[in-house]
Amino acid sequence: VVEKVLISACLLGKQVRYDGNALSVSTNILDQWIASGRVISICPEVDVGMRIPRPPAEISQGDGYGVWAGTASVVESAGLDVTAYFKNGARMALALCRKYAINVAVLTDYSPSCASSAIYDGSFTGSKIDGVGVTAALLKKSGVEVFNQHNIEEANQVLQRMSR
Ligand code: SF4
Repeated sequence: VVEKVLISACLLGKQVRYDGNALSVSTNILDQWIASGRVISICPEVDVGMRIPRPPAEISQGDGYGVWAGTASVVESAGLDVTAYFKNGARMALALCRKYAINVAVLTDYSPSCASSAIYDGSFTGSKIDGVGVTAALLKKSGVEVFNQHNIEEANQVLQRMSR
């Protein structure tokens, strides 16, 4: 069985970030995954209809788990509450995981949607705190292992084990 892997579109070179840029990573592992048909690409923010470019957004009063618990929210730099968009984008990502029986994701760290180790703290001052994004939290709660651009090798090891 060739296990599929969910990957943030911006890591694949798609210009979908809030500032209209990509965050391309180039590794042999990613190339192999693409060549073997493993890759399913997502951008929870653009998939749910947010535009490119768009204002930066950060999670306020917590992280993605807090958003699902109702104690944190996602707010744009000008103060607009966009929590509902971020939750719907996460649900779309989870639906793709279910559709393709995906157990492993590699998502962009520090994003309010995709982060798996750290996020910006909601003050729009560039300060980071430990935490996960809204999509990463939902996927993790649902049993998907979430990696990021800094630990693709670990993701590959898990995939290889699952594909045996
Ligand atoms: Fe990349 Fe995720 Fe942000 Fe989309 S939501 S631009 S995939 S980090």
